[in-house]
Order: sequence, then structure tokens, then C-alpha cells
Amino acid sequence: MPLTNSIYNSPVFQQACNQFDAAADILGMEAGVRERTKQPRRTLTVTLPVRMDDGRVLTYEGYRVQHNISTGPAKGGIRFHHDVTLGEVAALAMWMSWKCSLVGLPFGGAKGGVVVNARDMSTGELERLSRRYMQEIATFIGPQLDIPAPDVGTNEQVMAWMMDTYSNHVGHYDPGVITGKPIALGGSLGRREATGEGVAWFTKAYLTDLGIKASETSVIIQGFGNVGSETALALSAWGAKIIGISDFTGGVYNKAGINVKDALAYIAANKSLQGYKGGDSLTNDELLVQPCTVLIPAALERVITDKNAGKLQCRLIAEGANGPTTNEADKIIAERGDIELIPDVLCNSGGVIVSYFEWLQNQSAYYWSKEEVFEKLHRMLAKAKASVDETKAKYKCSRRTAALVLGIARVAEAKAKRGLFP
Ligand code: NAD
Repeated sequence: MPLTNSIYNSPVFQQACNQFDAAADILGMEAGVRERTKQPRRTLTVTLPVRMDDGRVLTYEGYRVQHNISTGPAKGGIRFHHDVTLGEVAALAMWMSWKCSLVGLPFGGAKGGVVVNARDMSTGELERLSRRYMQEIATFIGPQLDIPAPDVGTNEQVMAWMMDTYSNHVGHYDPGVITGKPIALGGSLGRREATGEGVAWFTKAYLTDLGIKASETSVIIQGFGNVGSETALALSAWGAKIIGISDFTGGVYNKAGINVKDALAYIAANKSLQGYKGGDSLTNDELLVQPCTVLIPAALERVITDKNAGKLQCRLIAEGANGPTTNEADKIIAERGDIELIPDVLCNSGGVIVSYFEWLQNQSAYYWSKEEVFEKLHRMLAKAKASVDETKAKYKCSRRTAALVLGIARVAEAKAKRGLFP
């Protein structure tokens, strides 16, 4: 039974719960274990007064949800976005639990969020907000307890401010508290590229399974931030043609191919894709339904829905974003039968895998080469792909449910074996 009066109630949390239930049914999970495996373990809500450059004090709301700490320190990014809700952060935390478990990391799952439009802030305002958020959650997290990372609206610089704030709080340099840091502050080589590198790795692997070559591959990517742009760079280096990209201002479509480095240079100079002349302007909704070999949602949740799932014209969906496909859209895609889908918990796992490597390097203060990072990353991705495809065949279920069966089973077993408290 869903907890109908739960503080997490929201369409996106329900989406994550429905996905969980499909996997728990296959596992025949007993009710007592099922509910405590599904529900977030604990949540901190914080109020963040921040002084603006003009002297006003504005107050923001922030969250940190630890979904699972039974299998290791919790792990998950921090999102700065004006539409962040507690239910969304809880859903994202839940997906982190299954993702870390699926790829075999010694972590639980967490996520953080602040309700703010960081794009409208000056650098000083963003720094004060980042530091205040970390100050408020400092007693709730730590290298052995909960390790944040970047997500939508946060980046290496934000991680640096947060690491510094935490280190000042504990009284010594403590880089292992957060990942996705600048290299100079204990960041890992390859972390910036890692999520996109992983999305591209899975895309190439599944296209190869389908017998589709790089030269025959066209790609549309929604969201051109860290994940979207790194995926685009990796796939265009492979030889695929990037024909559509978008950000919060809208999309650009060019059948002849978009020059990814040129588009990135435009964004660096203009802060968004608005006005970019590398192709025709399309809305985000229009872009999603254009013909392409691979469609990569790499922005926010719930963009592939019952309204557009029937109209998609791709062969493969690679979920760079977390939760981009609603439960209803999943059903439509399964009924159509002509689209392969690489689910978020598998597809974008490269980010948290290299975050794990960063944390390991911080623990030992011994740093690896980028080749070493990518070689270890690719090995873990290949292992996860093989076990998901084997589980999919075993249970004759969707690839999403197969990935969740694997991720959820380990967490549920750990909880059952440890007892009621973890
Ligand atoms: P980011 O902030 O770097 O980029 C987000 C991009 O999405 C930006 O280009 C933004 O303009 C665009 N965007 C925002 N709203 C949009 C909208 N309504 N329509 C189209 N585009 C929109 O964030 P990111 O780190 O690249 O994260 C993107 C997704 O990938 C999120 O779902 C995140 O949870 C997921 N993810 C990120 C990582 C990571 O390592 N950063 C790891 C795993 C999963």
C-alpha cells in the first residue's frame, strides 16, 4: 500500500514507486521488507537565508534525502533548480540507491536540492547560497555517511565551495566529503566527462548489438549541460552525427549535423543556446519527436510521456537524465516494440562510478591517470550491461525492470540480513 499521506507524494515519487513495485513483484518481495526498502530512510529540510548583492536577504528552502544507508554511505548529487520539490529529491535519492547497488558500489542512495533559479544569481550570491546549504547539512553528511556530488544547476565550483565549507566545519581538509570537485582539490581525472562517457559507451554497445554503425547513427540530445554535452562530444568523436540539441531556452535541429564544439563555444560566450545559428530552431517538444537513431534525454524528469511516446521516431532511447520516462510512456514504448531503451539507473551510472573512484582516491590520497579511470569505468559498465541483459532474458521483463530487480535485490537482502534498524 502506498503511504498516501507521505510528505514525498508527487507524480515523480509515485513514478519511482511504481517502477520499484514492478521489480519487487518479480522478486516476490515480502511486504515488511518491501515497504522499508522502498521508502526513504530520512530527510533533512533546511532554511537558507542568503545576502544578495543589493543588501536584501532572501530565504531559500533546501533538502537532503537519504534513501538508503544500509549498504554503505549514502551517495547522490545536489540539484539547484526553481522547480525542485521534496518528492522529486526523494525519487532521485531512490534511483541513486538502485544505481549504486546495480553497478556494485559500496554506497547507499541520497539526493539534495535547493529551490532556486541559480542562473539569475551573481557568482557571489551563488557562493553564499552553496556555503550556507553545506553549513546546514554538514552534521547530516560526511565521507563515511553521505557524499554529495553535482547535479542539475551545480558544478565543480559549487562542489569546491561546499568542500571548503565542510572542511572548515570539521577543522581539516576533507575532500572525500563530496565528489565532482576541481582536480586541484582532489577531483578525479575523467569525472567531468564520466556520465556522458558512460551514456555514450552504452549507446555504442547497444547500437553494436543492433548492428548499427557509427556512420549510420544520428543523435538528438535534450539538455546540453554536463551530461548532454559530454555525451555529444563522445558520440561525435565516435563518428555519429549529432542532429539535435537543446537547453532550457529551446532546441536546434540540423539534419546535416551540428558542430558540438562550436555549440559549446556559443554557450560559453552567451550562457545558453538561444540565438545559436547552427541549425533550425525547434521547441523542446518538437525536437523529441524528430526522426533519429538515438534519442538522449539529458535534462529533467518526465519528458517522455503518454503524449509523445507514440510519436517518437528513434530506434534507441538512452536515458542520460534520471526519470525522463513516465510509467505510461514505458507501457507505450513496450507495446510499440520498435524502440530499445537503456534505463537511467544503468545508462547514466558512469557518473557515480567515477565519483566512487574519486572518493577512493581521496581516501588513499593516491591519484590515478585518466586512462586508468576510464579503463576501470568501462569494465564496470560492461559487467552491469551483461547482468542487466541476462536478467531481462531470465524474467522476460523490460530492461528498466531488469536493472531495478538487480539494484533492489541487493539492498533488500542487506536490510533483511541486518535487521530492522538499518
Ligand atoms: P546541467 O545543469 O549541467 O545541465 C542541464 C541541462 O538541461 C542544461 O543544458 C539546461 O539548460 C537543460 N534544461 C533545463 N531545463 C530544461 C528543459 N525544460 N528542457 C530542455 N533542457 C532543459 O545538469 P546535468 O548534470 O547535465 O544533469 C542532467 C541530467 O542528468 C539530470 O537528470 C541529472 O540528474 C542527470 N545525471 C547527472 C549526472 C552528473 O554527473 N552530472 C549523473 C547522472 C545523472
